[in-house]
Amino acid sequence: MRQFQFYYYNDFTLKTELTKIRLWCDSSVYSHIVFQIYSELIDKEKIENICSIIENALPQAEYFGCSTNGNIIGGEFSGCDISIVCTVFEYPSTKMMFRQYDLSAETSDSVTGDILRIIDENPWVKAVELVTTIRGMSMTGFCDNLSKAREDIQIFGGGAFALDINNESACVFSKCGGFSQGGVVFWLLGGEDLEIDSTYVTGWKPLGKVFHVTRSEGSRLYELDGAPAYDVYYKYLNIKNDERFFSHTLEFPFFYKLHGINILRAPTASLEDGSLIMTSDMESDVFAQLAYGDPGTILDSVREEGARIRDFRPESVQIFSCAARRSFWGNTEISKESKPFGGIAPTSGFYTSGEFLRTGKYVNQHNVTMILVGMREGLADDQPAKTLEIDDSEFTGNMALINRLANYINAAFVELEESAVRDGLTKLFNRAEIQRRINERLVSGEPLSLVMIDIDNFKSVNDTYGHNEGDNVIVGLAKMLKEGISSHGSPASAGRWGGEEFMVLLPEGIDSAIDAARDMCSLFSEKNFPLAGHRTISIGVTEAREDDTLDKLLIRVDSALYDAKHGGKNRFVVV
Ligand code: GH3
Ligand code: MG
Ligand code: MG
Repeated sequence: MRQFQFYYYNDFTLKTELTKIRLWCDSSVYSHIVFQIYSELIDKEKIENICSIIENALPQAEYFGCSTNGNIIGGEFSGCDISIVCTVFEYPSTKMMFRQYDLSAETSDSVTGDILRIIDENPWVKAVELVTTIRGMSMTGFCDNLSKAREDIQIFGGGAFALDINNESACVFSKCGGFSQGGVVFWLLGGEDLEIDSTYVTGWKPLGKVFHVTRSEGSRLYELDGAPAYDVYYKYLNIKNDERFFSHTLEFPFFYKLHGINILRAPTASLEDGSLIMTSDMESDVFAQLAYGDPGTILDSVREEGARIRDFRPESVQIFSCAARRSFWGNTEISKESKPFGGIAPTSGFYTSGEFLRTGKYVNQHNVTMILVGMREGLADDQPAKTLEIDDSEFTGNMALINRLANYINAAFVELEESAVRDGLTKLFNRAEIQRRINERLVSGEPLSLVMIDIDNFKSVNDTYGHNEGDNVIVGLAKMLKEGISSHGSPASAGRWGGEEFMVLLPEGIDSAIDAARDMCSLFSEKNFPLAGHRTISIGVTEAREDDTLDKLLIRVDSALYDAKHGGKNRFVVV
């Protein structure tokens, strides 16, 4: 495999590049020549002119391409409005086929049906690359249908875009189908010596609060936690519903997991009823968080997935990277995430509106994601792997500031969530939380015992030594419960049930609960409080039974405690 990458400046420079390619081909053995043309301009005349110059110079060559939100050449954002990549396949065993279709909601099923049929009829097919116009169209059915292809077939590609992200139009084109503003081009590749590997990088990190997607239909997201979805962007990010809504929200997409894969979805518009139109379909009943781009995480992920692509020893790397990433990094820094691949193999691609990748069985439509595809003909060479050079010199300025603020939010959020379930004085779980945990364990049907504790004659501590000493005794008991529980090594939980009453949940049977109760009685009585001296506790112990409800279980443990009090205190009773 041999690749030529260049910019289109004018017809003359294009012809010069084509001559070089023709000379190279004339002196070599090759099987296919494929041009990929990436254009920031949706300019039918200009694109058709380029195509016809290629056709004249190399009639045997195939070509296809699409409009983009920027092009990647040599692993870097090219800054030139039209970029051309020519791949010459050298192995006679390499096979390929191109198909272009008109694509709309009506034709989606027949298009995917035809591609599945072609795949079935051609066992040599190993991968399907696609470029497609998608803006404003649900691709869920399209992806679900393609997921039915043989499981060993890789599927990847990108959505055509425009330089202006608010521009709804886009185009694809190919030698077999011509220019189209509503279409899809498939490039089917295979043959025994062609090897392909694909993966993806996100690097966007979820932020704070988790929202339940309570209503979503297709790409229209109506409600989060039962309230209009737009409220989240206004309340938490102060993003107003104006003409800049899309560019502002693009950097804060929603993050959730689908088929075990990290999915990002950004809103493109907000409607009057407070619903949001998302970049792609979103499922109801998933749990989503806002996410933000974190440069360090992105580059860590480039390092990890990059190592996989590097070890594959590709002869070319293709990148389908979301336009949101370009607007996130800005033109001067965007190449940080793609350039490392340029050091491994000729790397090219474009900034997309929607990225497609099959992971396992499922073809997923991604957003805000970078898809990486390595290709190679023949065996991997046995030269030492090239190094993946990642410029992760510390981020300064706004990037560092954003990162620290996001870190602050996440840390503060965890603290807040914790404090909502904890008792202020003892820092044990509060009653609601311990009760929730007991119920959770009870419905799971796994072993569960309760140990309910009450301090004996506590009123007299308050009355004799004051409320402060009373607090000391409560905190002292709580401390003992925490330490006792952690030394047990089992994931028990302790909560403050009320004033000087405590509840311990043991995920074990009655025997360990009895041991725990015995230990608690003796350990607590050994404590010596500054004023109150030695005190005692009474304990009720019980184990969950098959027909227990939460109420039944709690009443039983309470009655055991009552019996311990009436039996003379400083003891435990098991029921
Ligand atoms: P018994 O042995 O039967 O349990 O007697 P008792 O005196 O411990 O029982 P009672 O439940 O009547 O007394 C509990 C007292 O605990 C009443 C209340 O004033 C006190 N109390 C509740 N919460 C707190 C607290 O946070 N701090 C302090 N110091 N006292 C508290
Ligand atoms: Mg008491
Ligand atoms: Mg009490």
